Amino acid sequence: VPDARHAACNLARRLKKAGHTAYFAGGCVRDGLLGKIPKDYDIATSATPAQVTALFPGSNEVGAHFGVVIAKEQGHHVEIATFRTDGSYRDGRRPDDVTFSTPEEDSKRRDFTINGLFEDPESGEVIDFVGGRKDLAAGVLRAIGNPADRFNEDALRLMRAIRFATTLGFEIEPDTWAAIQANADGLLRISPERIRDEFSRLIVQPARARGLDLLVDSGLIQHFLPEVLPLIGCEQPPEWHPEGDVYVHTRIMLEMLGPEAPLELCLAVLLHDIAKPPTQTFDEQAGRIRFNGHDAMGALMAEEILRRLRYPNHVIEDVAFIVSRHMQFMNVQQMRTAKLKRFMSAPTFPLELDLHRVDCGSSNGFTDNLEFLIAKQEEFAAQPLIPAPLVTGHDLIRLGLAPGPRFSEILDAVQTEQLEGRLADRESAVAWVKGLI
Ligand code: ATP
Ligand code: MG
Repeated sequence: VPDARHAACNLARRLKKAGHTAYFAGGCVRDGLLGKIPKDYDIATSATPAQVTALFPGSNEVGAHFGVVIAKEQGHHVEIATFRTDGSYRDGRRPDDVTFSTPEEDSKRRDFTINGLFEDPESGEVIDFVGGRKDLAAGVLRAIGNPADRFNEDALRLMRAIRFATTLGFEIEPDTWAAIQANADGLLRISPERIRDEFSRLIVQPARARGLDLLVDSGLIQHFLPEVLPLIGCEQPPEWHPEGDVYVHTRIMLEMLGPEAPLELCLAVLLHDIAKPPTQTFDEQAGRIRFNGHDAMGALMAEEILRRLRYPNHVIEDVAFIVSRHMQFMNVQQMRTAKLKRFMSAPTFPLELDLHRVDCGSSNGFTDNLEFLIAKQEEFAAQPLIPAPLVTGHDLIRLGLAPGPRFSEILDAVQTEQLEGRLADRESAVAWVKGLI
C-alpha cells in the first residue's frame, strides 16, 4: 500500500507541474522533524481552490470559504489549503473572512511556531518564517506573534496549547503561558464538543497527569471541569493514603495507567473519587475521615459532567458504572461465587480491574484483592462466567407453573446454584425446581 507521504508527494508534484507552489504544512512537518510518523499530510499551495479542484477531479471543496480542498490519492485523503491570511475574529472562534496570500502570511496565521513550518516535499527543505525549528529542537511551545491576541482570536488554541505541550512533552514559553492564564475564560466561548475533543486527546496520552496539572495551573479546568479543583487539598485517612490528598492520589493513578489505556478508563480514573470532597465527614467516634457513599454519588457526578461535555451515551454509561463499582473491589473476597461471577461478567470488568490496580498502587499498596481476582480469572477461564441457563420459562410452564414474577425468581435461583457449581445439568436442575415448588 502506498504510504500517505507518497500520496501527498504525488499531489504536490502535480500542483508544481501546473506552475503552483506546494508545500507540506503544519503537523506533518513538525512530526517528521521529531522523527514521528505523521498521521496525515496537509498541503499548502498558491493554487486557488478552483485551480485545485480543476487539477484533481473528484476532489471536494470542504471549506470553500476557508480555501480548503480534500483530494483523494491512492486511498489517502489529503487536505490542500490555499495560502491565506485570516481576517478578524469577532466571535473568538473563527475568522470573519479569509484572503488568499503568501506562504509567509499563511505561516503567521497558524497557532504555534512548531505548527508553522513548511517543507518542500521533493527536496525535503524546511521553510521557517516563525522560528519553529529552533523551538522544536528546544522543546518549546510558543504562540506565533502576540500570544494574548492569538488566544483571543481563537480560544480553542488555549486547549490546543496544553494538548501539544502534553503530547510532545514540551515546555510552554513564559509569555505564551502568561497569556493562557490571563485569557483562560475565553474557553467559555468554545462549544463543549470542541473542548471535549481536545480534552479526550489529552487524557489518553501517557503524559496525562502533567496535562491535568497544566489544565489546573492555567485556570482552564475551572471553565469546563471545575469539580476536579476541590480534590486538591481534600484530605484522606493517612494510613490508607500515605501519598496525600485526593488530587495527588488521582494524578498518580493517571500516571500509572498504561500508554494504551482507553478513554473510558482514563476518564473513570480521573473521576473515581470525584465525590470525595462533597461527602467528606469526620467520624468522631472512630476518629477518622469518612466518605460514605462517595462511589454512588461519584457515578451521578461523573454522569452529569460527561453529559455536560457531550460525551456519547456509551462512554457516559461505562464511566459512571465503573465509578459506581470501584469500592466493591474491597469486598470481592467476601462475595459468594455466584455474586463474584456476576460481578466479573460485566463487559467493563477488565477496565475496572485496571482501575483497581492503579488505585492500590497509588495508595496503601495492598494488592490482595487484585491478586485474588487475577487468580479467580484463571480459575474461571475454562467456562463462560455466565453459562447457558439449565432451565427456561418453557420448562417452568411444563412443570405447571403460571408465568409471573415468581418465574424470574426461580430462574435466578437456578442460575445461582449453577454458578455456585451445585447444579451441573438440566435433569438435576429440573429436579431441584420440583423440590422448590
Ligand atoms: P494533530 O493533527 O497531530 O493534532 P496538527 O498540527 O496537524 O496536529 P491540526 O488540527 O490537524 O493539527 O491542524 C493542522 C495545522 O493547521 C496545524 O499544524 C496548524 O498549523 C494549523 N491550525 C490548526 N488549528 C489551528 C487553530 N485553531 N489556530 C491556528 N492554526 C491552526
Ligand atoms: Mg493534523
